Amino acid sequence: MLYVGILLGIVVLLLLVALVKTLLTPTLKSTYVADEPEEVSLPLAEKLSKMVQCDTTSFEAQNEPARWEAFHQVLKELFPLVHEKLEVTDIDGNLLYYWQGKSREKPILLMSHQDVVPAGGEWKHPPFSGLIEDGKVWGRGTSDTKCSVMAFLQAVEELLSEGYTPDCDVYLSSSCTEEWGGDGCPKLVEEIRRRGVDLFLVMDEGGGTAARAATPAPRGRIPPSTGSPPSCGT
Ligand SMILES: [Zn+2]
Repeated sequence: MLYVGILLGIVVLLLLVALVKTLLTPTLKSTYVADEPEEVSLPLAEKLSKMVQCDTTSFEAQNEPARWEAFHQVLKELFPLVHEKLEVTDIDGNLLYYWQGKSREKPILLMSHQDVVPAGGEWKHPPFSGLIEDGKVWGRGTSDTKCSVMAFLQAVEELLSEGYTPDCDVYLSSSCTEEWGGDGCPKLVEEIRRRGVDLFLVMDEGGGTAARAATPAPRGRIPPSTGSPPSCGT
């Protein structure tokens, strides 16, 4: 009986500690304000919004070309110079852009996937609304990781508009199976090998800063699509 009492006491104590810790943890709110004036930042936010409005959820071992074709069409409209001047290779929805530089020496590759995980759970705003509110773009994929797809395409778009030619060859790649560890990236790697390109630098998505680590997403098999048609907002 004494042991049961001690055990219950410990459980209650642990619960109290957890409760106090929860109550003392401040609610985190971003204080970030874009440096750029709205006439500069809003058109960029609108581009990201259009990308987010495309439902690019990927499902394990499920090939849905229409999903990627719709998204690629949006990319073509948002980044016309990139699609006019760079060589674009589409391997089953996975994209490889080649931007010829002044030299073949030390080519670089920037990577960022285009697919997103299923938008389960509760959402403050619909996950594929791409709503722009409170100085933010809302939706699935804004931070993981259409922001970095947009960042490299926008950077190249602006540099092309200035007539810039990079010193080295630049490759941009975007897998559409990253979220479930599919064969998209291996196909892109195979293509780069086939071309005999010896990359000097590879950079993948990253660089995000979280004030506090989010609860890790559950690992394992992603459930199959429920059959809702792929779509992109207007
Ligand atoms: Zn990611």
